[in-house]
Amino acid sequence: MPQAAADPNNLPYADGDFFGFEQLLSAAERERLQEIRDFLAKEIKPIAVDCWNRGEFPMELIPKLAAANLVSPVRRQGWSNVFAGIVHAEFTRADASIATFMGVHDGLFTGSIEALASDEQKAAWLPDIYALKKIGAFGLTEPLGGSDVAGGTRTTAVRDGDNWILNGAKRWIGNATFSDWVVIYARDVADNQVKAFLVDTTLAGYTATKIENKISLRTVQNADITLENVVVPDAFKLAGGNSFRDTNKVLKVTRLAVAWQAVGLQLAAFDVARRYAVERQQFGRPLASFQLIQDQLVKMLGNATASMGMMVRLSQLEDLGQAKDEQSALAKAFTTARMRETVAMGRSVLGGNGIVTDYEMAKIFADAEAIYSYEGTYEINTLVTGRAITGVSAIV
Ligand SMILES: Cc1cc2nc3c(=O)[nH]c(=O)nc-3n(C[C@H](O)[C@H](O)[C@H](O)COP(=O)(O)OP(=O)(O)OC[C@H]3O[C@@H](n4cnc5c(N)ncnc54)[C@H](O)[C@@H]3O)c2cc1C
Repeated sequence: MPQAAADPNNLPYADGDFFGFEQLLSAAERERLQEIRDFLAKEIKPIAVDCWNRGEFPMELIPKLAAANLVSPVRRQGWSNVFAGIVHAEFTRADASIATFMGVHDGLFTGSIEALASDEQKAAWLPDIYALKKIGAFGLTEPLGGSDVAGGTRTTAVRDGDNWILNGAKRWIGNATFSDWVVIYARDVADNQVKAFLVDTTLAGYTATKIENKISLRTVQNADITLENVVVPDAFKLAGGNSFRDTNKVLKVTRLAVAWQAVGLQLAAFDVARRYAVERQQFGRPLASFQLIQDQLVKMLGNATASMGMMVRLSQLEDLGQAKDEQSALAKAFTTARMRETVAMGRSVLGGNGIVTDYEMAKIFADAEAIYSYEGTYEINTLVTGRAITGVSAIV
């Protein structure tokens, strides 16, 4: 008979941080991380599955997130990128949809303002954005322009005196059913360059319709947006958003954050599968006592640990100002591919209970699919990396 552990829920490695990456954080960061973990356990974990099942976003969470002061931890609060990455992974570990809400508001939207707005624009807009008094969305993808949106943006911007007139459509835009603002990327017909505009969602001609029937990140409210002669004052054109190269400054950082989501989702799958394996009995013994189950748990942990090691180093490079686009691309492709393997093994460990959200694993399993595809699909990030190591572009 295999020997039973004294208390399988209280083993030193139960937190999934097998190589002690968190020891790289400062004492202040570790203390803050614990506060954030307590917040996630109290405010997000208890509601996550129910919101996902109903496909509704918990609006009452927004003031709580604001009170917890979670927006722009690196740029505004001075924490390291390693800390910010581990926090984003912990958000995802609690719930990938809420992590995505934060990733859209704080990463894609706030990141666009921080990277592309003038100092005057930042001074006017950022205080309310940091305080979550104004919620943001990021409108780049279009119905006909996904992976090729850099060259294929069809939404147009026409200069008209002190205004710009926007026309077109956007698809998949997270938070956009309720956001106050959305950064719209549109092609200036005068010079054919993609420019960025802060669009107030109450403007005439702007509509956002919720995308229904999703099987992944169901709590995130993704929208189809239409823009019909929307008049945007020139003061709301982001001063530094003048070409797709500028847009890429935002995407490089957010791609890194999505790779951290892949770490967090793997840790979530490991948490649920390990707990289930030690508790569930078959053949009169815990599942954890079967070698084939241990093999799956160890592979899951190995995937999560390899992903985390890659992300810790990439975030250290980001802290040094040395991280490159292709490194974020490899990280996003690698960690999301490992994530897909990990959540599939986790689902298998739970048997039939792995396909109902009551046991959380089905939500984790399904959420991996959106993370695999957004922020540059696996294929596109692979091709960005392939171009960097061969000097030959295979994207087009
Ligand atoms: C849940 C969710 C949330 C999202 N949130 C936002 C958001 O907030 N804002 C926003 O702007 N966008 C958002 N997106 C859009 C997302 O970024 C796109 O889905 C993604 O860029 C892929 O585009 P696509 O879905 O049109 O796929 P397509 O580009 O049509 O690709 C379809 C398939 O073909 C492959 N493919 C395409 N081109 C090539 C090639 N050259 N070589 C090999 N394979 C190729 C792709 O990898 C993919 O497998 C979101 C998407 C999802 C699913």
